[in-house]
Amino acid sequence: MHRLLALALLLPFPQWGGTAADIARAIRENSFDRDECYRVRDLTLVKEDIRIYFTDGHLIFSKPVAGRRIAAVFAADVEGGDGEVILLPPDRAERRSLAAYIDSPNLDDHFRAMVLLFTGNDYEQLKSQLPANPTNKKTPDVGALLDEQWTPVLRNLGASFQARLTLDLLGPSRRTGLFAALVSSGKLGNFDLIYDPESAEQVLAGQLATREDNLYFDTWTNFTARSARKNPAPPHQDVAVRDYRIDATVNPDFSLNAITRVKVKPRIDMAVVPFDISLQMTVGETTVDGRPAEILQGDSLRFNLMRNGNNLFLVIPPEPLRAGREYEFAFHHSGTVIHDAGDHVFYVSARGNWYPMNRMQFADYDLLFRYPRDLDLVTAGDVVEDRTESEWRITRRRTTAPIRVAGFNLGDYEHARLERGAYVVDVCANRKLERTLVPHPQSANVPPPPIGLPRRRIDPLAQAPPVEAVPNPLERLQSMASEVASALEFMASKFGPPALPHLTVSPIPGTFGQGFPGLIYLSTLAYLKVLPEARRSSSPTAEIFFEDVLQAHETAHQWWGNRVTTGSYRDNWLMEALANYSALLYLEKRRGTHSLELMLDSYRNALLAKNENGQIVDSAGPIVLGTRLESSQEPRAWRSVTYGKGSWIIQMLRQRMGDQPFLSMLAETARRYDRKEISTDDFRQLAAEFLPKPSDDPKLETFFGEWVYGTGIPTLKLAYTVKGTAPAIRLVGTLTQAGVDEDFTTLAPVEIKLAGRTITQWVRSANEPVTFTVPLKQAPQKVTLDPHHAVLRK
Ligand SMILES: [Zn+2]
Repeated sequence: MHRLLALALLLPFPQWGGTAADIARAIRENSFDRDECYRVRDLTLVKEDIRIYFTDGHLIFSKPVAGRRIAAVFAADVEGGDGEVILLPPDRAERRSLAAYIDSPNLDDHFRAMVLLFTGNDYEQLKSQLPANPTNKKTPDVGALLDEQWTPVLRNLGASFQARLTLDLLGPSRRTGLFAALVSSGKLGNFDLIYDPESAEQVLAGQLATREDNLYFDTWTNFTARSARKNPAPPHQDVAVRDYRIDATVNPDFSLNAITRVKVKPRIDMAVVPFDISLQMTVGETTVDGRPAEILQGDSLRFNLMRNGNNLFLVIPPEPLRAGREYEFAFHHSGTVIHDAGDHVFYVSARGNWYPMNRMQFADYDLLFRYPRDLDLVTAGDVVEDRTESEWRITRRRTTAPIRVAGFNLGDYEHARLERGAYVVDVCANRKLERTLVPHPQSANVPPPPIGLPRRRIDPLAQAPPVEAVPNPLERLQSMASEVASALEFMASKFGPPALPHLTVSPIPGTFGQGFPGLIYLSTLAYLKVLPEARRSSSPTAEIFFEDVLQAHETAHQWWGNRVTTGSYRDNWLMEALANYSALLYLEKRRGTHSLELMLDSYRNALLAKNENGQIVDSAGPIVLGTRLESSQEPRAWRSVTYGKGSWIIQMLRQRMGDQPFLSMLAETARRYDRKEISTDDFRQLAAEFLPKPSDDPKLETFFGEWVYGTGIPTLKLAYTVKGTAPAIRLVGTLTQAGVDEDFTTLAPVEIKLAGRTITQWVRSANEPVTFTVPLKQAPQKVTLDPHHAVLRK
């Protein structure tokens, strides 16, 4: 047990008589205390890497909530008044990220006002500095003005953070508590500064921004706080969950109500347990070991934008949970997560979880669904019961191995079922076409386009090709079943068994897919044969994508994302890159290397697309920024970099390793990280084991430095001359690099074709032209720079 957890056990639970709802209401209805307003000079507040100076102005504290003052406002509302905030990101990548938004690698801003929310000792810290300067005096008259002016802002912000604040106020005071500042700056507009000790990367600065009516949270910088950098603590999970039993009813109006039971074992004593659920679900009556527990569900847009669309809610058991004991939680929850796209086509909205989750933890699932008998409902696991009872159909499934999340889908389906060895593939197709795909569409409920909010596990991979005439959603059913089965078999032969032996494929409107364990959502476009006219007018890769890549990509997530997993937004690219490249391997096997290269070319073109400032999409930031790349600055970047550059990164590793070592590397990744989290750096080390030796970059540090942790797509040119006569010939070449930073470097293969054989000379590029010599016994027939897509280049 690490030091901080040990300390937490010694602290008593706070002496607060009210309920969580009382606290949350007090937060929402909080106001400023006119008797706690001060004229202040030269106060300093240091929160790890965040330094705040209240140089000259007024400071007012809020009234206490649960016995603690949790908010303040500083206003530089005096002649020459000033406040200053300084934040220095600790590494180059974060300085670059910050500079992309505020034109400076460090944040040093003079602000007019700052609203603070905190659950640590910030009140005491500020109060203790007041006596140092005799001019720091109480100013209740100014307090009245500030109270009037700022209380609406305080309440608004408090409502955004109410669940998170209540979690701190009710729980044992682990570490130092949340600190959130809303800064009102003349230069930068309103922006947020957060220190959240519950996050793996505790310090965050960013801003809500709109672009073309979409709302984004632009993360300027996000990093591990100073103390945690010095004393890294192993990642901890306060609660372990196992054994989900969900009993759900889909009503004729498509509302869903469910009872979710799950076993919960806290690792520390806990008075309050955090869970996540979709914003569309409401959690009602909840019990812990049969005794009623209190629920606090927030509605916090700002906070949820930072939490990938999920809504934090709190369970407050009748008495604190004890470390190491297992409890049964039972939640009643209901809401509308099923949407009607018209003509008996339905889909489950993918934003957030439809049932309560505490992080994504591997657990067994027993899922019972009751739903209108004229529909089909599919979910993870093997069917153990399937019957009808008057107007209802009842289906129960059980998983045969632990999974991290269970999805479901329903519709009026036609099925095609195939068994291949130990695996069963069940492909469902809608009997009817959704209205938006019918030519001359009538008005219909169109699913939300996959842009705007950061999401997880959704693959908005392509633009829809045009569809003409009335297509039939059943026409590819049989062939899709055999294709999914082939992809599953192909991948199982390379990576071992999939997440579950039973895989169901079901349609979803839109242009994307999603791969849950044992259940795939596929764009309804993947079910259609695109007509010849449409084929001519759409890009060749759109067709390849919908026919071959999308299903194989989602199938590949049975391994990448559902067996091998990641723990940070910085590593999620790896699951997408491996899933997409696995799909490209399958595409290559089916249709040849040319198809794979066409896809790579289209990814490169998307990365080279320019924005209004003439910058290419790739320059938005390195792939490890994950969903942070989906910002108001370049909304296309997240998709193009994650899927496109991700695929190129894996392709470049393959070209350096050679096919057999590359496939062994993938198999070893699946084996070594089975039901474990892999980080980007774990993957670098593993991949390096499969490089041919000797290697110019034996730990792949240069490769990852440029392609994974950096940006840039070079132009490479080769010039060469052949000197001497056989058998003492010398090929003298020059490799020239342009279009990237001067410290950029990559290995590039030069293929030399001789009579009867081909040799490949790898040359490292640099800012200055690089000259190399290859001794040959015979004159080369052909010399080609990078003929096999081994380098992502212009
Ligand atoms: Zn994916």
